[in-house]
Amino acid sequence: MRIVLLGAPGSGKGTQAALLKERLGIPHISTGDLLRAAVKAGTELGLKAKAIMDAGELVSDDVMLGMLRERLQQPDTSGGFILDGYPRNLVQAKALDSLLEDIEQPVDEAIQIEIDPELIVQRIARRAIEEGRSDDSEETVRRRLDIYAEVTAPVVDYYAEQEKLAQVLGVGSVEEVNERIVAVLETTRSEAGVEVQTEP
Ligand code: AMP
Repeated sequence: MRIVLLGAPGSGKGTQAALLKERLGIPHISTGDLLRAAVKAGTELGLKAKAIMDAGELVSDDVMLGMLRERLQQPDTSGGFILDGYPRNLVQAKALDSLLEDIEQPVDEAIQIEIDPELIVQRIARRAIEEGRSDDSEETVRRRLDIYAEVTAPVVDYYAEQEKLAQVLGVGSVEEVNERIVAVLETTRSEAGVEVQTEP
């Protein structure tokens, strides 16, 4: 199953993707994690990306597509994947579609985690302390939320038009949000005639 997780920075995509990975046995592909790994490894791309990420801006579409294409070529993605942090704009959404069309593996479901932006600012302030992410200052977070509203939100409509969008409420405990996502996926999978695994 090929799943795209959508939601503003701090909506819980990463946490939920990690849980889904365990439950569904498919890899969690986070473009933010891929970039952070490149930064840590000190690659040329990582050095360029760091300044952009620290400012809360988006890394170029070409770089991101190249990175994603390479990741999707890994054999562990053959049974599906959970994409977190990509697509971030319509250009990326269309590029993903054509990439997946080439291998006849279209996106099955896009799930948007909905949450109030003010709650997000509070959550990210906590994450800044817990994880020490250099792009988690309040100013950068507000910039990232603005970018989400301006350029990423249209991606939600893009999947809605394709009738692939499901929306879940991102408030409550991690487990509660996870149950909502699993319920959505069960519906999708039963519609697709795939047996559903309800227990983790
Ligand atoms: P994330 O961990 O998904 O919040 O991503 C952290 C940062 O990495 C973002 O604020 C962007 O600077 C960059 N990034 C991650 N994914 C993408 C993407 N698909 N397109 C452009 N920039 C990205």
